[in-house]
Amino acid sequence: MQKSLEHTLEEANSILQVQGLCINYEKAEAVKGVDLHVTQDSITTLIGANGAGKTSILKAITGLKKPNSGDVIFCNEKISHLKASEIVKKGIALVPEGRRLFPEMTVKENLELGAYLQKNKNQIQETFEKVLSYFPDLKPKLIQEAGRLSGGQQQMVAIGRALMSQPKLLILDEPSIGLAPIVVQKISEIIKNINQTGVSVLLVEQDAHIALTISEFGYVLQNGLIELSGNSSQLLQNERVKMAYLGI
Ligand code: ATP
Repeated sequence: MQKSLEHTLEEANSILQVQGLCINYEKAEAVKGVDLHVTQDSITTLIGANGAGKTSILKAITGLKKPNSGDVIFCNEKISHLKASEIVKKGIALVPEGRRLFPEMTVKENLELGAYLQKNKNQIQETFEKVLSYFPDLKPKLIQEAGRLSGGQQQMVAIGRALMSQPKLLILDEPSIGLAPIVVQKISEIIKNINQTGVSVLLVEQDAHIALTISEFGYVLQNGLIELSGNSSQLLQNERVKMAYLGI
């Protein structure tokens, strides 16, 4: 398939490129040759049904699962061979599905864990203040146990913890799961604010409507393959997307 000039230019301006990614679990082929890219400073989304392979792709990008083949390129450097902690140092932070907080630790302690690779105390404090400016709701909760917060507040802590590593690329795996629509709306606004301060975002979602509403570019994954890709506004109008993912 010939790529459009626009597509080629966007690729050249990518912060992240995934090329020919294949991931197997024993005999199961979960990801079967995926190409995607995240344009610098954009919000890009990857949508797809349960089991389509979204989390597997994120694990490969963040060094949590070695791909069987293919490359992950971040800021023009191949990172597929690096360990997860080295990838965090390069500037990629993952907000995992299900948040994975330490429920018995305080909100402040959970946030501080995100800065475990940072050495400069002043810089850590500065980032901490910045994180609280995105999430003012967390300010009065800092000494509470994280497990006692509402689902939305826990998601804020999970995003805040990822931001504590000062990422260039923030990856979110299903941040809307289990949250009320009004909370999802609030988190979406915060993701847009974070993006506007120069952090590129890769958002993985089952909620296609919210994902395509806040992103500029989207990929639709089905059974380990990219089925469709395009500007999010166009995907929102696509008949196949409407029927399969938006319930219209
Ligand atoms: P979900 O929205 O349910 O998290 P997903 O799109 O993120 O789905 P993956 O979690 O990447 O999909 O799973 C893709 C496929 O790989 C599924 O068929 C899943 O059963 C399989 N799979 C994922 N993790 C493992 C594992 N650790 N061992 C074996 N199979 C796995």
